[in-house]
Amino acid sequence: MADKPTFTKGGIHPSERKHLSENSPIKSMEASEMIYLAVNQHIGAPLKPTVKVGDRVLRNQAVAEGDGVVTSKVHSPVSGEVLEIKQMLFPNEVKGDVIVIKNDGKNEKVSGTEQKMTGKISKEEFFEIVKNAGIIGMGGAGFPTQIKLNPPKDKNCDVFIINAAECEPYLTTDNRMLLEFTAEILEGAKIVLDMTEIKKCYIGIEENKKEAFDKMKSENKDSRIEIKLLKTKYPQGAEKQLIYALTKRVVPIRKLPFDIGVIVQNVATVKAIYDAVMFNKPLTERVLTVSGLGIKEPSNILAPIGISVQDVIDFCGGISEETKYMINGGPMMGKSFDNPMLPVTKTTSGLLFLTDKEVVEEKENVCIRCGRCIMACPMGLNPTFLKESSDRRDYDKMDDVLDCIECGSCSFVCPSSRQLASSIVKGKQKYTKYIKRGK
Ligand code: SF4
Ligand code: SF4
Repeated sequence: MADKPTFTKGGIHPSERKHLSENSPIKSMEASEMIYLAVNQHIGAPLKPTVKVGDRVLRNQAVAEGDGVVTSKVHSPVSGEVLEIKQMLFPNEVKGDVIVIKNDGKNEKVSGTEQKMTGKISKEEFFEIVKNAGIIGMGGAGFPTQIKLNPPKDKNCDVFIINAAECEPYLTTDNRMLLEFTAEILEGAKIVLDMTEIKKCYIGIEENKKEAFDKMKSENKDSRIEIKLLKTKYPQGAEKQLIYALTKRVVPIRKLPFDIGVIVQNVATVKAIYDAVMFNKPLTERVLTVSGLGIKEPSNILAPIGISVQDVIDFCGGISEETKYMINGGPMMGKSFDNPMLPVTKTTSGLLFLTDKEVVEEKENVCIRCGRCIMACPMGLNPTFLKESSDRRDYDKMDDVLDCIECGSCSFVCPSSRQLASSIVKGKQKYTKYIKRGK
């Protein structure tokens, strides 16, 4: 049988470890007594809380908003009282405001929300609905969806891609959503096609999710939508790699998908669009995978946004004493953290609880110039060179760090256990600041 489509440059095959949760149906989790809503969950202009301590809030009420175009509101998943607005340190090492709400258990919602919507909507109304629902890229990027779906007119986008590759080990969120929200995701895709007037939609699913592929394919009746099975290879779900696999189009260096006529959205984002358009439901909950040998009951859960990691741990039976690392996201691109009171956000696709059996810490050794990191890099970069330049802050030689997609493939293959990706990512942050300062 011919190989399934994939990207050509680099890539790796880490152990998948999806078996821990892939057959666990999504379980709904009730909101607990305390909700911790991160004010800034998106990429764009910072938001400000629109509530103050002592205010009563309703379920689905916007509690943080911002000015400008690249913005996305945050809504409360419960009714209750604002107890406090405080700062917390997030896994990306950035401090941010968090609105603490005491859930009154009454679930009183904003009038007109979470009800079946009828009648046609215009394009303008659609973008306004998506914006007001606070929908952002839920695969991890966090870019406001109304902006991504509405590129400049001269870009002439003709392909819409739903990213269902889910190439990160352990994560099974997209897989379960494709299986359990098949009709909603297909309907969400149709809504986007109708509203953007794009004629073609690909849903790209890796081969290791064959059951989900078969179900999507058998339920799809829209000729504009094509479900495609992709080779299982990391990082297949990275935007540029996915676009190439599905369309053979190449996003040029420092350009965006819309520059080659493509818009990409994640599975969960498309489901959120469906919920907003069909039920006037803002984004207040998400599906995430809870996995790793450290958690008692690996699961896929539908959790209110703002629930604490500790509540998730309790819901999944607790963690074992062997748990050594908590990771927000997947093991390749996720960030480790220590504070279990941190909240689930709109971009939390998974929470991993890993033990020594899963993470082997090895001492960094000298580079033996084997070139494996170069072979593995899907962006065609020279990671060993970029690490050295980054560590030295040699800004004249660091321009390529801007093209790093932070996939971690280079570190994964290095026989000398060199922390290539983390050095390059730090270098990227420093170099970006350096450029902004005007060099
Ligand atoms: S982390 Fe960056 S440098 Fe390393 S393989 Fe991925 S894209 Fe290449
Ligand atoms: S893989 Fe590691 S040892 Fe090999 S060239 Fe890259 S940094 Fe050096």
